[in-house]
Amino acid sequence: YKVNYAPYKNEKNEKGGLVLVIQDITEQEKLENMRKEFVANVSHELKTPLTSIKSYTETLLNGALENKEIAKNFLSVVYSEADRMTRLVRDLLQLSNFDSKKVFFNKTKNDLVKLINNSIMKLDMTVKNKKQRLEFITKYDSLEGYFDYDRIEQVILNIISNAIKYTEERGKVEVFLEKEDNTAIIRVKDTGIGIPKEDLSRIFERFYRVDKARSRELGGTGLGLSIAKEIIEAHNGLIKIDSEVGKGTEVTIHLPLKEDNM
Ligand code: ADP
Repeated sequence: YKVNYAPYKNEKNEKGGLVLVIQDITEQEKLENMRKEFVANVSHELKTPLTSIKSYTETLLNGALENKEIAKNFLSVVYSEADRMTRLVRDLLQLSNFDSKKVFFNKTKNDLVKLINNSIMKLDMTVKNKKQRLEFITKYDSLEGYFDYDRIEQVILNIISNAIKYTEERGKVEVFLEKEDNTAIIRVKDTGIGIPKEDLSRIFERFYRVDKARSRELGGTGLGLSIAKEIIEAHNGLIKIDSEVGKGTEVTIHLPLKEDNM
């Protein structure tokens, strides 16, 4: 609370008491702080790859170009840093479009089983490279519902990619699909590093990461989960995360299947 006060005077200018103004600014202040933090985060996230691009090109211009092997090496760093910036800007633009409600969700009749199978196929190489097992467990041959296929696929790909990323080699990732009333329940469970209890409540915040260095190394932008939440909530669904350090993480998504879930 913000408290302002002034002595009270009547028409004859005689003092008598005090005027108190109590204002609840905590919410407003919180939003302002979040905005500031967000801008600081964006600046930092853009500055890191830029610094790296600058120093590598500088070294190339100063003679490193003469050595073909070194030049190739440096250029691949420049390329991957530019790539990181592209991903970051793409994610930021998507979030900004959600914020200004510019996004149109194309909810059409789709099959969730097909969507999950396709997502798993797309991640096949990543899983093989880490010698992990990725399993899809469901009793359904098909499960139809009204949702934006591309956006839901984006969410599923992101959640499964996270499970793969934050799980060691030879670990296991399982995707379960169930149905309750008219809601699909998708669970992605991994045997990975887990998330400390104190971080769990903040994990859907923009740029919130347990281990910034590790996330960056793995190519993360720190925006994936916040985008996933926006998309699921735009479908009137919900997304939650449970985890235990050293044991694994489970992300649960409730996705309404009926046509009128706008
Ligand atoms: P990032 O691009 O960093 O992966 P996300 O928004 O997708 O960003 O996730 C935010 C953070 O949540 C990650 O940096 C990581 O610390 C944590 N996280 C997400 N999924 C998992 C998981 N399956 N296991 C462990 N940690 C996870």
